[in-house]
Amino acid sequence: MSIWIKDTLLVTMDPQQPVIHGGHLVVTGDRITHVGAEPPSALEQERCQRIIDGHRTLALPGLINAHSHIGMAPFRNYGSDLPLETWLFDKLFPMEDKLTADDVYWASQLSMTEMLRTGTTTFADMYMFSDTTADVVAKVGMRADLARGLQCFTDDVDLATDTRVQEALQLWERYHNSAAGRITVRLGPHAVYTCRPAYLEAVAQLAADKDLGIHIHLSETQKENSDCQAAFGRSPSEHLAELGILRRPTLAAHGVHLSDQDRRLLSQFDTAVVHNPGSNLKLGSGVADVPGLLEAGVTVALGTDGAASNNNLDMLQEVYLAAVLSKGVFHNSVGVTAQQALELATVQGARALGRPDLGQLRTGMKADLLLIDLDQPHYYPLQDPVAAVVYAGQGSDVLLTMVDGNILYERGAYSTLDIEHIQWQMERLTEDLFQRP
Ligand SMILES: [Zn+2]
Repeated sequence: MSIWIKDTLLVTMDPQQPVIHGGHLVVTGDRITHVGAEPPSALEQERCQRIIDGHRTLALPGLINAHSHIGMAPFRNYGSDLPLETWLFDKLFPMEDKLTADDVYWASQLSMTEMLRTGTTTFADMYMFSDTTADVVAKVGMRADLARGLQCFTDDVDLATDTRVQEALQLWERYHNSAAGRITVRLGPHAVYTCRPAYLEAVAQLAADKDLGIHIHLSETQKENSDCQAAFGRSPSEHLAELGILRRPTLAAHGVHLSDQDRRLLSQFDTAVVHNPGSNLKLGSGVADVPGLLEAGVTVALGTDGAASNNNLDMLQEVYLAAVLSKGVFHNSVGVTAQQALELATVQGARALGRPDLGQLRTGMKADLLLIDLDQPHYYPLQDPVAAVVYAGQGSDVLLTMVDGNILYERGAYSTLDIEHIQWQMERLTEDLFQRP
């Protein structure tokens, strides 16, 4: 299938030609085959089965949500206004014990409707019943990097009998590089405060043996840092480096409380910090020093975290927060610029996931993109397209979302998801879930 998007405003994230007014983009199969101010050749035009009139639309590379727990959708709007520890240990963990694969099946679908509706094409997820989520990803057509969440509170470690680790290995065997390469798998030790050191060491060794990356929470709260310091005499970053975790390509979610020394340490490894401004604000955890991380040379991606602590999966909202928060908190009108904020959700997200074929609208890249409807009051006058998307844009402005060359969402309609049925199932299962003993 070839698709020609004509006369659109291309925000490519490609430094060679960052913004193209009245531009043209052609997708052939799963790749972008033409990007430019000039229309495609007559021969290319002839091959296109569909032409999309892009007048008053803005095209962006698909947004990458680098930290989520999409199976948490049933806990949206539950346990609000609590600190992280209370929220997690007293509210979330007991309810999560009651979750079934069926709950995660519908929660995954609901989350995907929301992500596609707001322009997200790829997400990195850590949760339970990840095989169920993988099946949904394969069916729906999104791109995902999945990790079965791991935790261990005892010192006698035997990964061979650890059911979570065994599920993680099955996930890797069955799904890594599956669905035409749209699904990848990594190991997901939850955090330093939910995984004993011997366990983290064993998980790091397993990741090295299987050549897998890691997805972990890092320095989300001040308490995580002070507890780690008291127990092990080092910061969580130093702890993970010491235990071998950081020797693997690592997605480190949050990084709210990092010292200069931690930032320098992280910059020496293939570690990407995933900034989750909405979740960090809501749980009162603080604000990550994104300018400091970027200055230290650390890759910084962007994520929503779960719908229980955000409470939505709208990446444009996170882009906005990333851009304004650093200015307000650090009293710096430059802080994270609009361009940098958009990079966190695109090129930097792609780098964090080790995907050089994502994050830009450029010939040869994977055809993951979105179109924004510029015919909205908040886009007049347009002036600077990047500032318009970052400071005035909203997830609901997304007209069309494409993954791997397939249009999965367009003007309220989904090609692979039944939104009404999914919403009905979510109401049903959530009512049931909260009544379970
Ligand atoms: Zn998280």
